[in-house]
Amino acid sequence: MKPLILFDINGTLIKRDSRTDLPYEYAVNELLSIENGLQGVNTSARSDVDVMMEILQKHNVEYTEALWEQFFKLYIKQLKEFKPSDAWRENGTAVSFVTKLAEKNYPLALITGELGIGAEYKLKKLGIWQHFATGGFGEDGLRRFEIADTAVKCAKERFNREFDKIFLIGDTVLDIKIARHIGASVISITTGSNTREELQELSPDYIIDDFTELSMDLFE
Ligand SMILES: [Mg+2]
Repeated sequence: MKPLILFDINGTLIKRDSRTDLPYEYAVNELLSIENGLQGVNTSARSDVDVMMEILQKHNVEYTEALWEQFFKLYIKQLKEFKPSDAWRENGTAVSFVTKLAEKNYPLALITGELGIGAEYKLKKLGIWQHFATGGFGEDGLRRFEIADTAVKCAKERFNREFDKIFLIGDTVLDIKIARHIGASVISITTGSNTREELQELSPDYIIDDFTELSMDLFE
């Protein structure tokens, strides 16, 4: 039986740089009539909803459903605007790696703090969105552990089976902790927010600098 392979997005599939969060930041700025809404806010490895809560608290604005809906509309507008740009680029050889797995019919899913809509725009830009049957997204929980639980639950439902082996591929130490939480083997990639040394401290099962280092035999 093929294992379930879960992917983080930012810093793993998508190259993370200063522009990664711009659509989100511009939407926040417009929503609250502020500038640099993400300044001093660490967005790495956090859910988009959790980040929003911190920003609202900072500006003494109460969270309401209506406010969230308003943000959502602004965010979609920004995602559309960024779509033709090159803000979302493949991290290393992520596209060919994911495509190869999809061709071999591996069950693939996402674990990300990104809202589903953001994940969709970004991965469609890379041409690999259709390879991920399901996932856990920013709206599925404030904390990544909840998001991970959702991803596994949705994958079991979507593929209509249990998984005796799960892999999680991610760029942060939190991804390693999440993998342990869901009983997955973790492949850490050194292209994101954490250094090789930081990742190594948590003893991931595998540590790579690029997807080309992974043999398909690993998933057999
Ligand atoms: Mg990441």
